[in-house]
Amino acid sequence: MYKNFKSVNKCTYGKGCISTLGEILAPKRGIDLKGVMIFLIDDYFVNHSLIQKLPILSQDMVEYIYAGGDEPKTSQIDELRDKILSKYGLPAGVIGIGGGSVMDIAKAVALMLTNEGSSVQYQGLNLIKKEGIYHVGIPTISGTGAEVSMTAVLTGPTKKLGLKCEWTVFDQIVLDPDLIASVPRNDWFYTGMDTYIHCVESMTGKLKNTFSEAYGYKSLDLCREVYLNEGYGQNAINDEKLMVASYFGGLSLTYSEVGVCHALSYGLSYVFGTRHCYANCIIFNVLEDYYPEGVKEFKKMVAQNDIFIPTNISKDWTNEEIEKMIDVCWALTHMWKHAIGEDWEQKLTRQTLKDLYLRM
Ligand code: NAD
Ligand code: ZN
Repeated sequence: MYKNFKSVNKCTYGKGCISTLGEILAPKRGIDLKGVMIFLIDDYFVNHSLIQKLPILSQDMVEYIYAGGDEPKTSQIDELRDKILSKYGLPAGVIGIGGGSVMDIAKAVALMLTNEGSSVQYQGLNLIKKEGIYHVGIPTISGTGAEVSMTAVLTGPTKKLGLKCEWTVFDQIVLDPDLIASVPRNDWFYTGMDTYIHCVESMTGKLKNTFSEAYGYKSLDLCREVYLNEGYGQNAINDEKLMVASYFGGLSLTYSEVGVCHALSYGLSYVFGTRHCYANCIIFNVLEDYYPEGVKEFKKMVAQNDIFIPTNISKDWTNEEIEKMIDVCWALTHMWKHAIGEDWEQKLTRQTLKDLYLRM
């Protein structure tokens, strides 16, 4: 199977590179810089010095997004799209400044500004009908790889599934490691581990290949420098490394696929709203049967960085909740084909999934 997919068109990287955003946006604003830009910004940055550095012009819209609660929802995207269209018509671009949540919202809004109806009807692969508008991703927390991926993950009324197509990919990303310096310690760990897990999963399975491994190995090495080896910890040098690790981890999985942890994670997030990276850490912690080396190293990183990973959370779950998680998880056939093989349905049982959930 060959993959033929689109990468981010342009990428600038380096401490302080956010200062070049004005030059980057200028040609997209058009004559006399009249074009409207929509800045979607994580609300951590309200009244933050970063805002003064952004090239926000008088005609632009700035919307602060709360990313500490539920993950992005289809209804949230539809509302934002309607608000933008009714106030500004079709803008010149959308800029998402934040973590995976805000970047996914920016990608989805850019698409939904040109596609009619609710984003619910576009959850899936290649369902989007028209190219969206110019969109820029600026991560302020690293690990999800959302800056490079082809998907904008949304929770809808019946499923958690991305708007996935070539047009989802950012036209431009700005990777400035200074922006992640203020990330709270736990988020720094949980989100960073998403990259680690992306690489372990993409490099362990049927779709692994040299391209994916090349990015994966480098990303894993960078994760080790950030979380394990001498000089580990949250500091400016490691922020540079983590930002690149996230980008490479995203590329690694794009050429391959994620696996068991992510499949289980979608179930957990869907039923309990558990946030993606945190859910992955809880799950990966019990997956030694599938990823023995990876889980061993993960546990070392947890211990060394003194991070709390909850255990025994399944004790309060009802059978109905577990069955629902299994339904969501079972539907992720592409992940199972990668992790187990084309004949995964013969090899995997719902009882195995139940046992895994009960280990958490
Ligand atoms: P997030 O966007 O959910 O943010 C986590 C927390 O960190 C929030 O409270 C936010 O306010 C805070 N924060 C962000 N930057 C900060 C900074 N510089 N200083 C202080 N606080 C900061 O974080 P995430 O883990 O990057 O994203 C999770 C989301 O990404 C989920 O919705 C998940 O579904 C999605 N995701 C998408 C992809 C993809 O390929 N599109 C992949 C994995 C996950
Ligand atoms: Zn992930």
